[in-house]
Amino acid sequence: MASGEFDLIQRYFQSPKKRTDVLLGIGDDCAITSIPAGKRLAITTDTLIDGVHFPPRTAPDDIAVKAVAVNLSDLAAIGATPAWLTLALSMPHVDQRWIKSFADAFKRMAGRFDAELIGGDTCQGPLSLTVQALGLIDDERSMRRDRAQPGDLIYVSGTLGDAAAGLKILQRSPIAGDDEAWLVNRLNRPEPRVELGVRVAEFCRCAIDISDGLVADLGHVLAASQCGATVYKDRIPLSRQLIAHAGGRDALDWDLVLAGGDDYELCLVVAPDKDNELMRLSSELALPLTRIGVIVEQRSLRIVDPSGAEYLVDQSGYQHFVS
Ligand code: ADP
Ligand code: MG
Repeated sequence: MASGEFDLIQRYFQSPKKRTDVLLGIGDDCAITSIPAGKRLAITTDTLIDGVHFPPRTAPDDIAVKAVAVNLSDLAAIGATPAWLTLALSMPHVDQRWIKSFADAFKRMAGRFDAELIGGDTCQGPLSLTVQALGLIDDERSMRRDRAQPGDLIYVSGTLGDAAAGLKILQRSPIAGDDEAWLVNRLNRPEPRVELGVRVAEFCRCAIDISDGLVADLGHVLAASQCGATVYKDRIPLSRQLIAHAGGRDALDWDLVLAGGDDYELCLVVAPDKDNELMRLSSELALPLTRIGVIVEQRSLRIVDPSGAEYLVDQSGYQHFVS
């Protein structure tokens, strides 16, 4: 990329320092930050590729929000407080309006969570972004995938299936009506459950964020913890908008709800005596936390309906790829 264009890009991404722990930000060879004594560094990275992780022609501000959100969701899932971000951006050409809209939305979204963009890289190529998020976590406060035990209860935040329905809407037809717009927004602008992650880590030792669908992601927990789970299908929290869009509960595509992905809700596994604490947190944060199942010894994930019959999830229709 020509150096003039590059200066311009840098200018869009640079902004006045907000965090006092950023000793050296955008503009030098590396960023330098300080880490408070007693804290540990939590590091995660996620790549978003045009046409793969977001539909082609997604608006730049939506792409920016999603890139920040999916990374902060990983920090939330381990219980870390966001601190810093880096951004490696590849773009086919320099479109100033696109970059400005992208950079403004990126910085606004990061700022909401007190995370600061401290560096990155920019190059010419197919549209793709790799964000790295760095967060701070107290010693012994992490929520790991390998900490589930038989008898623990399984909760999820928010509602499931909205983003997957949003993707189907985008793939099929123009958006019609408020419910469809809301579902598409759940796909394009996920809300990372940052405060929930940090607060719940005080008494929860096991969590994961739901990016590939409940079945796949809870499956990661079960594999790491060497146990199984029973999940009650009728307990899965659903939005009013999803039910309305489907034309009623009975018409719901349950594979989409359980395996569709892109939810970016947290799945929490807690000891059975933590229900009260969770419900208190739920009302404090005004965020539904729903108990959906229980960890069991036998190593399989069973989704059961109220009659006790097992529901076999077909995951095959739900890949990341958007074509
Ligand atoms: P170098 O040649 O040392 O890798 P660059 O010329 O790539 O440095 O980048 C110059 C400065 O701009 C660095 O501080 C880098 O972190 C920052 N930077 C480059 N691209 C981005 C971006 N997309 N977002 C944030 N910071 C960026
Ligand atoms: Mg560079």
